[in-house]
Amino acid sequence: MNSFAEIIATIKKYDRIIILRHQNPDPDALGSQAGLATTLRQAFPDKKVLIGGNDTEGLKWLSTAEEVTDADYQGALVIVTDTANQPRIDDQRFDDGDFLIKIDHHPNDDAYGDQLFVNTDASSCSEIIADLIDSSDELQLTKEVAYYLYAGIVGDTGRFLYPSTTQHTMEVGGKFIALGVDTAAINNKMNEITLQQAKLQGVLFDNLQIDASGAAYAVIDLDLMKKLGINQEQANSVVSTPGRLKEVCTWMEAVQKDDGTFRMHLRSQGPVINGLAKNHDGGGHPLASGATAKDRAEVEQMFEELKELVTEYNQKGE
Ligand code: AMP
Repeated sequence: MNSFAEIIATIKKYDRIIILRHQNPDPDALGSQAGLATTLRQAFPDKKVLIGGNDTEGLKWLSTAEEVTDADYQGALVIVTDTANQPRIDDQRFDDGDFLIKIDHHPNDDAYGDQLFVNTDASSCSEIIADLIDSSDELQLTKEVAYYLYAGIVGDTGRFLYPSTTQHTMEVGGKFIALGVDTAAINNKMNEITLQQAKLQGVLFDNLQIDASGAAYAVIDLDLMKKLGINQEQANSVVSTPGRLKEVCTWMEAVQKDDGTFRMHLRSQGPVINGLAKNHDGGGHPLASGATAKDRAEVEQMFEELKELVTEYNQKGE
């Protein structure tokens, strides 16, 4: 583990810096990436700072990536934000630079990088970037930087609702408000869904299998998405919805990919689910993880494992 001072000393040494984050980026991936890029550009205008990766259609309003060539990687510093493991980095040339830094808030299962800073107590990677800026005399938390970081924190805390939200998270959020960031506009944008996505919520409640233990799951397959006219990325907007039900404490959503496999989204309000995710080619936070199921049989197998896990948790009376 390295200190912020060591990371900033490294940043100062490089003229070209490429900032990456994970595939299928969420607001925290994009917010931490763009927030860091913006503060570095503002502090060091002579450095070339590039934002890499593929765009997510529904989040282009927040940040879009730039073209990064093979030549750009030569001799560059590469910084990866919000990405626990190397296979999920959205640009597998990440190791082609001269030096690699990991900055993240997920469990540090894959401690990659020449330098790394991981804080699993942080609500989001965006909160860590705010702390990095605060630790330095040279980096500034400007209104533009705060815009990206606010979106990232809102995304990963469910608008300051999840247990990962700490006093410090609120203090950092307060600094953003003091800078005049239009928080209501960001919240509205992040809350926005299409009519088709709203219809999906209804179908989801109809299809949700709820076990007496409080474990639940729903499958959103290709046929359903086609019928509703939504894509996989839009289907992700309903992942947190079952958590509002009194009957549900831990749940999974299986969203089918074009190749027939399922991207699994796991969420919990108590039982720790990242071990289960790890057993199915995934990982993540104790209460919010992702995994992959090759077919429906594996989805159902995962639900059996989820039910066991929740039942055990209930028996312990935690
Ligand atoms: P998601 O359900 O895709 O919103 O992901 C929930 C959390 O789990 C996020 O913090 C992701 O970064 C993490 N995550 C999702 N998929 C994976 C994976 N395959 N491996 C490791 N972490 C993952």
